[in-house]
Amino acid sequence: MRVLIGGGSGFVGRELTRLLKAKGHEVTIVSRQPGPGKITWSELESNGLPPCEGAVNLAGENLMNPLRWWNESYRKDLFSSRVDTTKTLAQAIADSPSPPRSWVLVSGVACYKPSLTAEYTEDSEWTPFDLLSKLVKEWEASALLPERAVLGRDGGAMKQMLLPFWLGLGGTLGSGGQPFPWIHVSDLAGIIAHALEPPADTPPPSQQVLNGVAPALNTNYEFTKELGRLMRRPTIFPVPGFVMNALMGSERAIVLTQGQKVIPQRTQEAGFQYKYPDLTSALKEIVGS
Ligand code: NDP
Repeated sequence: MRVLIGGGSGFVGRELTRLLKAKGHEVTIVSRQPGPGKITWSELESNGLPPCEGAVNLAGENLMNPLRWWNESYRKDLFSSRVDTTKTLAQAIADSPSPPRSWVLVSGVACYKPSLTAEYTEDSEWTPFDLLSKLVKEWEASALLPERAVLGRDGGAMKQMLLPFWLGLGGTLGSGGQPFPWIHVSDLAGIIAHALEPPADTPPPSQQVLNGVAPALNTNYEFTKELGRLMRRPTIFPVPGFVMNALMGSERAIVLTQGQKVIPQRTQEAGFQYKYPDLTSALKEIVGS
């Protein structure tokens, strides 16, 4: 299968590319920069979709970019880098005489309202309630084709959390009791590959959401203590919510200081087997590497 991956040069894209190539598939990346194995977004717009059987969009300005202040220009880039690239890919697919069989967008679990008690599956209804949930709404709407799309709602990059822990500065964020959805990047790549390869004997679903989170439901406290234990580092410096809000901007800090219990019900029903279903196995692999 030939797969086109928007933003495939990033954290998730590199893992997905490795996995797809190991399965014998060919990958072309859509990027802002030209290079081997890549086409640019403007080439995609002017030349149309290259021949492919699967397409994915992972492009987006990093929400946790430590080099950028939380201001209007950053917020604009967060939206446009996701919505515009998704629209460009969706349009190219819609215009293609031989469109791919699968089209997968990875968005975020920020659409589900943070709660200590509510449990969200792919069937949960939601309406936008803050900036990031509005982003998910616009982002997913821009992916919609008359026919098909898989929306993978992904939560939680673990690797980005390691540095403060190495420095012995890891601690619970906010109250620590908030749910903390996470997934190992290898499983996320696996879920995307699974979505790209619907069984040949069944027609692909017209549109479906897969929650790209691990099945274990953990709190930020559990995550912090387990990571500290495996790294043999103290985790005695809790970061209060108001400090997180001041450092990151409250619209963004909500991702870490409040959380949702997200259940990957359909992902599991679809037969996906996690390599790292629980915190200890996932963190051991990350800390070990
Ligand atoms: P990355 O931060 O690694 O970025 C992916 C790619 O997006 C980059 O390699 C870059 O490609 C492209 N990109 C970055 N900024 C811009 C911009 N301003 N305009 C256009 N393209 C841009 O993302 P991840 O791989 O970590 O995540 C993939 C997707 O999954 C993202 O959309 C992210 O929001 C979503 N997601 C990720 C989570 C995570 O924990 N990692 C959690 C929830 C959702 P290039 O330089 O080649 O153009």
